[in-house]
Amino acid sequence: MAETAKRIFGIDLGTTYSSIAYVDEFGKAVMIPNAENERVTPSVVFFDEDAVIVGEVAKESAKLYPGDVVSFIKRSMGEPNFLFLHNGESIRAEEISAYILRKLVKDAEHFLSEKVTDVVITCPAYFGINEREATRKAGEIAGLTVRQIINEPTAAAIAYDEFAKSDNGVVLVYDLGGGTFDITMIDIRKDSVEVICTGGDHHLGGKDWDDRISSYLVDVFQNETGTNEDILEDPDTLQDIILSVERAKKNLSQRQNTPISITHAGERIKTLLGREKFEELTADLLDRTIDFTHRMLEEAKEKGYPSFDEFILVGGATRMPMVQERIQKEFSIVPKVFDPDEAVAKGAAIFGWKLMLSNEFSGRLAEKINKPINQLSNISDLIKNKEICLQDVKDAKQQVSEATGCSFLKIETALMRVKNVTSKSFGIVAYNDNDQIIVFNLVLKNTGIPVVKKQKFYTTSDNQHSILIRIMESDTSQVEIPLGLAVDIRTATLSLPPLIPADSAIEVTFVLNEEGRLQISAVETGEGHKIDILVDTASVIQDEDFEKAKSRSQCLVVH
Ligand code: AMP
Repeated sequence: MAETAKRIFGIDLGTTYSSIAYVDEFGKAVMIPNAENERVTPSVVFFDEDAVIVGEVAKESAKLYPGDVVSFIKRSMGEPNFLFLHNGESIRAEEISAYILRKLVKDAEHFLSEKVTDVVITCPAYFGINEREATRKAGEIAGLTVRQIINEPTAAAIAYDEFAKSDNGVVLVYDLGGGTFDITMIDIRKDSVEVICTGGDHHLGGKDWDDRISSYLVDVFQNETGTNEDILEDPDTLQDIILSVERAKKNLSQRQNTPISITHAGERIKTLLGREKFEELTADLLDRTIDFTHRMLEEAKEKGYPSFDEFILVGGATRMPMVQERIQKEFSIVPKVFDPDEAVAKGAAIFGWKLMLSNEFSGRLAEKINKPINQLSNISDLIKNKEICLQDVKDAKQQVSEATGCSFLKIETALMRVKNVTSKSFGIVAYNDNDQIIVFNLVLKNTGIPVVKKQKFYTTSDNQHSILIRIMESDTSQVEIPLGLAVDIRTATLSLPPLIPADSAIEVTFVLNEEGRLQISAVETGEGHKIDILVDTASVIQDEDFEKAKSRSQCLVVH
């Protein structure tokens, strides 16, 4: 492959399992096995003395060294208060995720005998601005160039499209992973993949099904032994139960009953858990996913999408028969179980591959006309305006084909647009007409991105030095909401030029880019002074902490 056409790998950084894929020389997405020869790696990190162990061994070590093992770190991404203490050091979620990434990358490099530098990482559609930023930082701490963060359902839809080759259609992607649930409607066309609506729950996944079995086992143990003790408070017993309930749950996807044994404080009991009982214990969890789906369908209807053509299931937890049966009953459609463990990583790899080809193509075309080409949609405008001729386009494709070894046809199919929506509303703290503090939403949930919003603020006194803006994120779709329904994601301090009179207008521009990242700029409208903005993002690792995490993570060996 030519030096400029760097391969971009796809990484599914999951709550319970993670994986990495690439697109091979035949244009096919392929999973890369880890050093243990598994295609998925448990997202579990064990801090051993001077090494970090990730994966199955870390998962098994949780029983012996519960204080040194971190699981489900994805649930803490973007959380300002999360810190894992190890050997007197405070470790943030981004760094822990970076170790998972390093394990995937190291094993992939070994397997392919090729350096992995550029990646596309996926995150739940439901992730807000800080969680996305934290995911990007995790990649950077791991020493990677993160070419893009894309939504897991979008990645799954891209993989499905590549597999099904159905040109047009509206698909619902129901993604129930280990720790998160996403439901997304996607319009797949010949040359574009467009997200219409998305919804879900950051804290709902296979792990919650496991927890229900664990609580049930506590009751069984108490009944059989006559104790009142909560056996989950014993770290050894807890780790034992965590491993056995997940095994039991997976067994119940195949069989009607599964035996489970529990040992605690020298007492051992055995019980048989039936699928029916399991489904009864977890029915309300499944109900929540159905409620989210109905809510999302209502929003989609308002956006002019009253129906869908396919219902696809991704995420390991959709293997539970109760999920498939319930969906069929509720929506009168047979859902397709599509590559639950691999669709996301493969979709990310295909996306990365298309990104590489389209960047190559735009770069070569830009050379011909001597000016940058920002978007693929530009190209038809350029042809229309006679700034470029069809022959130039053909020549550029030919050059990319020669540089990458990809056929002309493959390059054409790679020139696909992906359009997303924001999964959250975001706005600012302001006073309403009744002088009450509220959140005024500038961008509403499920708005297409990129989106640009401008808002004017006014100085209150002569020679005011600064203005502080609180930027808030929420799940609601109303313009004005009470403060309590939103969370702070940023504070922006605008440093004003000297000698500005009171009541001067300052226009602030918020840009939510196509990846859902927020950029802020401001000008003083009277004199046109540009205003410096200091954005505080305490929820995401920054500056010194970032550098420290990066150098520490590079010093530790990852197995
Ligand atoms: P993912 O995040 O997509 O890798 O999904 C992981 C979740 O899927 C975990 O909660 C697993 O326990 C669950 N899972 C994987 N395989 C099965 C199965 N056969 N039956 C039920 N749940 C499963």
